[in-house]
Amino acid sequence: MKIILLGPPGSGKGLFAQFLQDDFGIKKIATGDILRKEIRNKSKIGKKAEKYVSKGIYVPDKIVLSMIKNKIRRIKNFTLDGFPRTVKQAKFLDKVIKVDKVIHITTNDKNVIKRIANRLQCGKCNRIYNLITIKPRRKGICDICKGKLYIRSDDKIVKTRLNVYKREIKPLIIYYKKKDVLEKVNGNRHFNLVYNDIRKLIK
Ligand code: AMP
Repeated sequence: MKIILLGPPGSGKGLFAQFLQDDFGIKKIATGDILRKEIRNKSKIGKKAEKYVSKGIYVPDKIVLSMIKNKIRRIKNFTLDGFPRTVKQAKFLDKVIKVDKVIHITTNDKNVIKRIANRLQCGKCNRIYNLITIKPRRKGICDICKGKLYIRSDDKIVKTRLNVYKREIKPLIIYYKKKDVLEKVNGNRHFNLVYNDIRKLIK
């Protein structure tokens, strides 16, 4: 099954993709995580991507499209978190795979800002935590891989990222509505309730 999670930063896409991987073995593929790793490794892609990621704007398709194509090739079941972000990316994806479900997680700005202010991520396995709702057992340490938790530097510019998201999301929603693969989930609730809905949709 090939699933896409759409939603603003802080809507829980990464968390739910992780849950789907843990519960059903559906691989989480997050373009943001891939880009951050490239940046950490100071690779050619990372050096090019850094100036966009640090400003909260989208990395050019020239970099992202080939990166995602290489990742999804030969994987049967996956959830995409953070891709596609534009109609152009969605059209590209349609040439590579057949998308089964697109789940749009709606969240209001207040919740997004609150969640991001409390978000932590594991530098090793990319698992997501929250200082209020999903606390790690040991402060600053990932429960699963014992990696160090960090605050994403671009989480400090959440308003810019929200504006960029809002500009691009409407045409993308229309695109998937027309294809009849779109489902909507109210992401303004406790993460357990949101995840329950997502689980029902993919069964
Ligand atoms: P995320 O972890 O999904 O919030 O992504 C973090 C940052 O990575 C974004 O603000 C963009 O700069 C970049 N990025 C991630 N996915 C994409 C994409 N599909 N297209 C362009 N830029 C992306």
